[in-house]
Amino acid sequence: MTELPDRRLLLVHAHPDDESINNGATMARYAAEGARVTLVTCTLGEHGEVIPAGLRHLTGTALGEHRLGELTAAMRELGVEDFRLLGGKGRYEDSGMMGIADNDDPACLWQADVDEAARELVEVILEVRPQVLVTYDPDGGYGHPDHIQAHRIAMRAAELADDAGWRIPKIYWNRVPRTVADEAFARLQADLPGLPFGKAAVVADVPGVVADERITTVIDGAAHATAKAAAMRAHATQIEVAEPTAPYFALSNELAQPLFTTEYYELVRGERAAEPGAAKETDLFAGVTLGEAS
Ligand SMILES: [Zn+2]
Repeated sequence: MTELPDRRLLLVHAHPDDESINNGATMARYAAEGARVTLVTCTLGEHGEVIPAGLRHLTGTALGEHRLGELTAAMRELGVEDFRLLGGKGRYEDSGMMGIADNDDPACLWQADVDEAARELVEVILEVRPQVLVTYDPDGGYGHPDHIQAHRIAMRAAELADDAGWRIPKIYWNRVPRTVADEAFARLQADLPGLPFGKAAVVADVPGVVADERITTVIDGAAHATAKAAAMRAHATQIEVAEPTAPYFALSNELAQPLFTTEYYELVRGERAAEPGAAKETDLFAGVTLGEAS
């Protein structure tokens, strides 16, 4: 059996770029601390809208191939060596935004059999034996079919892995506390004139925003803010990052959004650990017994 580091974190995402936007600082932190960070991305985002005019000729498989290159560069910025595509490259395709005809393509993730896709993920779980799984909430954060499906696959895989020999002790969903989002958008309004983006997004555009009480865990990513911004920049077909005073970014809709370097989570499986002097957990592995079965 291969030697694994004591701490092992698994993240499941829909498209290349989601991992850097949601968890870039968290991934960089744990990679820097010597934990095993494993990213499973479900599709190559073949239907993503391309921002740079010079790359807009890229569509479908060619765009997917290009985005795999972007993902590789982003992982280099975060120091993450273990990143994989669910079921191997090209197994599941991007489903596009909810309600479009691409949702019906039999090759797309939205049409995938959840149990079958989950079994592909169980293979990874049994190999890596993560103590922590991070994914989206049941709505996928904002209703994109691939994000919803990534949630279902991740949660089902955790369930199947229970019976297959590895119970993941802690599962988290990506979150943003409402007051943090409100304050960041207020700041954005003030900073907007200095940004290369014409308009600002609104809080409702941010995935996973919930009442502050639901946040169980706060990862301060200040030390990894530069790595996170660099990883996001590596996804150049999808993201434009600007940092005059605070960092902001925009997707292909060109609406400015705050770039959060503190990342927030809601624990949905496992015991919330009490940390002295901290109202919330500050470590995803808090309370986990390490070294078992590794
Ligand atoms: Zn996505």
